Amino acid sequence: MLQDFWFRVSLPIIYGAMVAVVLWGLFSAIVALLFMLVLLVCVMAYRARQISKLAQWIQDPRLEAVPEAIDGVWDDVFSRLYQMVKKHNQTKQALADEVKYIEQATAALPEGVAILDKGDRIEWCNPLAQQHFDLDPEQDVMQDITYLVRQPEFIDYLRESNFNEPLIMRPERHDDLVLSIHLIAYGDDKRLLISRDITQLERLEAMRRDFVANVSHELRTPLTVVSGFVENLQDATNLDHDKKQHILQLMAGQTKRMSSLVADLMMLSKLENDQRPLSEEVIDVGVLIGEVYEEGKLLSNTEHPITVEIKSDVKLRGNGKELRCAFSNLLSNAIRYTPAGQAIILRWESVNGQAVFSMQDSGIGISDQHLSRLTERFYRVDHSRSRDSGGTGLGLAIVKHIAIRYQATLEISSEEMVGSTFSLVFPSKRVLLT
Ligand code: ADP
Repeated sequence: MLQDFWFRVSLPIIYGAMVAVVLWGLFSAIVALLFMLVLLVCVMAYRARQISKLAQWIQDPRLEAVPEAIDGVWDDVFSRLYQMVKKHNQTKQALADEVKYIEQATAALPEGVAILDKGDRIEWCNPLAQQHFDLDPEQDVMQDITYLVRQPEFIDYLRESNFNEPLIMRPERHDDLVLSIHLIAYGDDKRLLISRDITQLERLEAMRRDFVANVSHELRTPLTVVSGFVENLQDATNLDHDKKQHILQLMAGQTKRMSSLVADLMMLSKLENDQRPLSEEVIDVGVLIGEVYEEGKLLSNTEHPITVEIKSDVKLRGNGKELRCAFSNLLSNAIRYTPAGQAIILRWESVNGQAVFSMQDSGIGISDQHLSRLTERFYRVDHSRSRDSGGTGLGLAIVKHIAIRYQATLEISSEEMVGSTFSLVFPSKRVLLT
């Protein structure tokens, strides 16, 4: 190969020498030498030009700009260069694709990831880590992370080098976020910083704590009252019949309150834990409303004029027990928050393919600021009024859960001292036309 190269490089000189020998024979040695001189100058000039083309190209080595040559040797050199650059470009492209692929995978990670060197400098971070720590992907690379995230607990955690437990912290610049931070040491003094957004989890945990506190509080009051009465009964042996009856009646009231609370809690937990799909019974809502109305009359002691308006005969697909529970809760509220003698209307109608159950009362109403929170568990506008009327504070939370199972919406409109309307709007996919 190498010999072949030298042969090809020398070929013009060899041919030239042969021509020079002929010239020597025909003319003279001077002519032959002159010819050789001119030939060598031309060969050198040509090679100098090719070298200059090569030098120029090396400054900007683009594949499409590889120089061309007319002779075999330089053509060979340039075409090898062309192959080399092409291969290099392909390798570069394959590496770039690989990096892009890894970047896409890390961008899709549900966690923030940053690589720290032994001086806590950020070598690389994914978009979620940038978001969590408010980092600038261009400016903050190779910056010490402790200059950028200056919270003492974070700095202590980095220095501690005991990373078994995660650090829970709220970043200074995003205090609505709660992050769980974990460090993993790897390689040569490198560390992987993983940050997970646990805001939702924390919120759920706070809700769970509140819920337990609320349930305990709700149960404690009637329990304290009942145990007080039991003590009274034990101590006072010669209580007269009427007084005893009165105490027993009060105790029965408190026990009833506790059992309604437990029943509502069980209903809520059943709704929350029920993973089964909603049953597909065909429910004649007109009949169901008739039954709820009868219950309502008993509850109201016929003190309220209750009217039923069935404006549509569309049926629903779902679970009769759950629907009945939602309608009864709304009617029970309407009765409890409407003074005796004032009207209550139960309505069933079909609007634009959807079916709407509404409970309209002319009671005390609710001011705007409470409307968005009414369906929270244990949220009450007026605590004593709710308790005195036997409310558990869970009725609307139950209605809301049932609505969610039907992909229905619960709409509330109300005006203080005028009345309220609670409407359950069922989507057309749950409605059966008859
Ligand atoms: P409660 O058992 O206290 O009635 P709910 O969850 O059923 O609990 O209702 C939450 C709160 O919403 C009630 O405490 C009451 O203040 C208000 N509320 C519900 N329904 C009505 C209504 N029809 N009219 C006025 N206020 C209502």
